[in-house]
Amino acid sequence: MTGHMTSAEFRKIGHELVDWVADYWDTIEERPVLSAIEPGGVSGLLPKSPPEKGDGLGSLVADLDGIILPGLTHWQHPSFFGYFPANTSGPSVLGDLVSAGLGVQGMLWTTSPACTELETVTIEWLAQLLDLPERFRANSTGGGVIEDSASSSTLIATLAALNRVSGGAWCRDGLGGPGGLDYVVYASTQAHSSVEKAARIAGLGSRGLRSIPVGAVDLAMDAERLSARIAEDKAAGRVPALVVATLGTTSTTAFDPLPEIGRICEENGIWLHVDAAYAGAAAICPEFRWMHEGIEYADSYCFNPHKLLLTGFDCSAFWVADRSSLIQALSVLPEYLRNAASESGSIIDYRDWQIPLGRRFRALKLWFVLRWYGAEGLRKHIRTTIGLAEQFENLVLADTRFECVTTRTLGLVCFRLRADNELNEELLHRVNSDGMAFLTHTVVAERLTLRLAIGSPFTESSHVSAVWCRLQKFATEVLSS
Ligand SMILES: *Cc1c(COP(=O)(O)O)cnc(C)c1O
Repeated sequence: MTGHMTSAEFRKIGHELVDWVADYWDTIEERPVLSAIEPGGVSGLLPKSPPEKGDGLGSLVADLDGIILPGLTHWQHPSFFGYFPANTSGPSVLGDLVSAGLGVQGMLWTTSPACTELETVTIEWLAQLLDLPERFRANSTGGGVIEDSASSSTLIATLAALNRVSGGAWCRDGLGGPGGLDYVVYASTQAHSSVEKAARIAGLGSRGLRSIPVGAVDLAMDAERLSARIAEDKAAGRVPALVVATLGTTSTTAFDPLPEIGRICEENGIWLHVDAAYAGAAAICPEFRWMHEGIEYADSYCFNPHKLLLTGFDCSAFWVADRSSLIQALSVLPEYLRNAASESGSIIDYRDWQIPLGRRFRALKLWFVLRWYGAEGLRKHIRTTIGLAEQFENLVLADTRFECVTTRTLGLVCFRLRADNELNEELLHRVNSDGMAFLTHTVVAERLTLRLAIGSPFTESSHVSAVWCRLQKFATEVLSS
């Protein structure tokens, strides 16, 4: 078996695999949420070398069942409550299937006009759903793009900010150029690790990042401390380049005070990037739009449809208010990419809006999701998700042995036993050890805190009750041990 797969073979195996995925979803609840295998447990079952002769895909399904599935943590499981969700959906998977089948590489408009134009349209639809300011729209000075991740979005915002603040010198001379200026990036102590990573990749090093303290209760950036730090850096001859404000921090969904931070950025001519990777999806519901107060100050904004919006990883939506600053920072044009459409200036080449050259047709899965659910269906999913978190929060609040560590705003509940860290660690260990549920943790003011994040479209009220019952049972055990 060495030839190409015929269309008849593709059809047959393809149908089997679609059935296999549907069966997986139908029976996902019977599996332990968290994989129990030891390191090497998957690689040890695979051949040491690639097959010399292709053997078709005869034993494929058996291997998927026997080798791959036991080595998975089931992110779509209704009792997966860890990290933030990375949910997917039927329409998203089918969009990705079509994208894979088309095998399009959409680096330039001309390499597949539909790939670019569908992306421009779907990202505009998202901007409307979130009610983003006019200047982020393509018919104004800005525009949106699909990145692979919020980490990439933060990185390109950092590069655009460096380019703007240096008047293009950063692009030309790099950091070590004439002037040799010392650029600085600001984010709260609660900001995502991708901010520090972006500072390093951009050549500023971790030293170039200022971690601004947060309020003790709300865990939101202290705007006064930000202002003071900026003044201090300026006095020392350094150049503030970027502030990253987080809406919905990864640890506890804390919200930085955007209006205050925005005013500071405006006064000082600093690029403001808003990282709403998880929380932004909720802004499709008018009742959660409060989080966008002050967004008119933002130079760029990002949220991940791949977290709460039923679009499979990877799909991060990024908008910039002045697209020319981004394109100037990232555009390098070799002769072999020159073409008439690009020269005309009337089209978008998204290669200039991201780090790699090549790009997948990600807009398809987003388009499928938006068409399938409609705004109404997506809002319903957000409201159901947040409603389930509220249900859990109420259960926690009703049991005096427990406390909520922060005020819940969206689908994440941060809670703990009113006991020392060791007992909380033991509680987390027990609830995760029988495969019935999976929660992760964080630390808030030195207190070990359990995180329960709702997100799988399969999660129902009964799963929330069930995990709470088990937490109560384990709490009794742990407290009496
Ligand atoms: C999840 C998250 C990120 C990282 O998202 P990726 O798409 O995995 O890079 C960044 N910022 C915040 C606030 C997040 O919650």
